[in-house]
Amino acid sequence: MMPDQDIERAEVAVASDSLDKPLSWLRFPARLEQQYLRDGAAGRVRYVALSGALSLLIFNGFLVADYLMAHDVLALAIQVRLGVFTPIALLLLSAVWFAPKWVIKNIPPLIFEALLALSGVFASACLAYILASSHSPTSQYYHIGQMVVVMYGNVVQRLRFGYAVATSAVVYTMHIGGVLMLDASNPRLVLPMVAMVGATVVFTLMANFAWERDHRRNYLLSLRRQHLTHDLNEVRARLQQLSRIDPLTGLYNRRHLEWYLQQVWRRALHGGEVVSIIMIDIDHFKKYNDLYGHTLGDQCLARVAKALADGLRRAGDLVARVGGEEFIVVLPQTDPAEAYQAAERVRQAVQALQIEHADSVTAAVVTCSLGVASCRVQPEQTDTQLIAQADAALYRAKQAGRNQVAS
Ligand code: GH3
Ligand code: MG
Ligand code: MG
Repeated sequence: MMPDQDIERAEVAVASDSLDKPLSWLRFPARLEQQYLRDGAAGRVRYVALSGALSLLIFNGFLVADYLMAHDVLALAIQVRLGVFTPIALLLLSAVWFAPKWVIKNIPPLIFEALLALSGVFASACLAYILASSHSPTSQYYHIGQMVVVMYGNVVQRLRFGYAVATSAVVYTMHIGGVLMLDASNPRLVLPMVAMVGATVVFTLMANFAWERDHRRNYLLSLRRQHLTHDLNEVRARLQQLSRIDPLTGLYNRRHLEWYLQQVWRRALHGGEVVSIIMIDIDHFKKYNDLYGHTLGDQCLARVAKALADGLRRAGDLVARVGGEEFIVVLPQTDPAEAYQAAERVRQAVQALQIEHADSVTAAVVTCSLGVASCRVQPEQTDTQLIAQADAALYRAKQAGRNQVAS
């Protein structure tokens, strides 16, 4: 596994533990934090652009409230909302909507977050300015409207918790300032208003914190799921490999050969092609084991197997170990003459290994006998029949004195 993945796994474990603490700092280890911000950036930009457009409509909808509660400064309110705030907001929104993807992807997430926070403070300042200019008796109640800005930043925009705290603090300070500057016409209003906006700040910050923690937890879960999937795929690939390979020689085993031959057979039947098979058996191998021992016998098998595999020429050729010292070669689209040549090449390659065999009556070295069979595949012909023919040919090669090819 890549070391990168190891680091990520360790960081995910650390991050999960720290998120589960009752008062978490909502911060991952540095590298993971960067990755989290980066991975979430595009979705976040989209979300903010959409919710921002809707919120701009609502922001201007408050002109009705301006009309009803701060009637004396309606003209100013229109100027501030439609003449100042809206054009700037539209400019930013269209920049986000129409910017190419690579630009969006390259906005540093924390700069983006800071811009968002500023937009909230700006909206709040607009309201504060309108209210500070109004002398309408109803405008004093309107200070409570800052609750809406706080809710927007903490719950709708879902500023990152740190930014949400900072923005809330600025908005709340502006609110308190605005309320304290009232003409003291009704001092009983001050405390309830400050308390209501204050409670809104606290509650929405709690919601904001919980949301961000859940969001981070989900992110960690998705990484864990990726890791698990990766592991599962690796295990599956390994198991598949194990189930097809003979561990001693590294060649395919009989199971895979049967599966492969079926594929070859189906294709050959479709195209009326010739398929050839070579069956190979090491000569006097029992005596070899008896004389040199099982360990050397195993080594001999491995070397012969390598010679067989090296002897294959075409991409579709496949060799498998199908028994103790027996092998089968499948040669798709190969006619009898070519198959015979291939078998002869294999026979010479095994002999050329020059593995001493003092007890062989055939030669001084390890040899093998080979049976070749070919057929043009027809509907009534089965691959088992072809294997049986190759087996019969092998038997004839043994009978005729071994270390030879029969067909
Ligand atoms: P022939 O020339 O007629 O093929 O004689 P043979 O001795 O090769 O044939 P036989 O079938 O009598 O013996 C095969 C021997 O192969 C038996 C066994 O000792 C050996 N053998 C089978 N599998 C293995 C293995 O995995 N490792 C080792 N070392 N020997 C094996
Ligand atoms: Mg045998
Ligand atoms: Mg044998």
